[in-house]
Amino acid sequence: MRKKIVAANWKMNLDLTEGAELVNDIFNGSPQLTEHKIVVIAPPFIHLTHTGAQLVGMNHVHLGAQNCYSEASGAYTGEISAAMLKSAEVEYVIIGHSERREYFHEDDAMLAKKVNLALANGLKVIFCCGEPLAIRDANDQNAYVESQLIAGLFHLPVTALTDITIAYEPIWAIGTGRTATSAQAQDMHAHIRTVLGNKYGDTVAADTSILYGGSCKPSNAAELFACPDVDGGLIGGASLKAAEFLGIVAAMSNA
Ligand code: PEP
Repeated sequence: MRKKIVAANWKMNLDLTEGAELVNDIFNGSPQLTEHKIVVIAPPFIHLTHTGAQLVGMNHVHLGAQNCYSEASGAYTGEISAAMLKSAEVEYVIIGHSERREYFHEDDAMLAKKVNLALANGLKVIFCCGEPLAIRDANDQNAYVESQLIAGLFHLPVTALTDITIAYEPIWAIGTGRTATSAQAQDMHAHIRTVLGNKYGDTVAADTSILYGGSCKPSNAAELFACPDVDGGLIGGASLKAAEFLGIVAAMSNA
């Protein structure tokens, strides 16, 4: 049975005090979670050990990181390895976010290496894909996203897919206030599931969680999460305010 997941991507926001307060407020909001309806919190690296300590005893809330490096160790000043994340008790790592692809020039080959290192170190991967506006306007989004999945993931053996979650994030909807309609999200998620099924079989396709990301908020989460192939969300801006985040988590809990 695939999980429903709401994952918080804080990006480069919140100092240690603000982050601790936010986690506290989320805890005090008593989110209704189960083994199959979970939350992942991905703060900046510097928060990880602190946030991890706060999450001890919070059932079904998991620690995530926003990135890891594409080499195992060595002279890469400023970078963080998958093994380091594992040693900090991180469970999930986001790989391939469009901001990493665009601002840090992370290409498909680099992302595939990151995926390999994350899995080799026992992390679960939230692999991001999604098209820019020009591709959507040309109605080429299905082929574009398929090529991202092939390049980033399809070298993996079928057994690895249990540790992969996919986040579909149309770039034109990230941080813009413009959300994909639930029909657009459902169409793409169904396409992703078909692509997964063609490569790895129907069981893997049915068991893989596919999250939507892009200006998701309490007012649109319920409609998005009601789509049969939308298994939750990767949340940026709305994950920085406890009330908004809890509203989105409640939409998942009720879906
Ligand atoms: C994101 O960056 O993953 C994201 C979905 O951002 P936002 O929710 O702010 O659009």
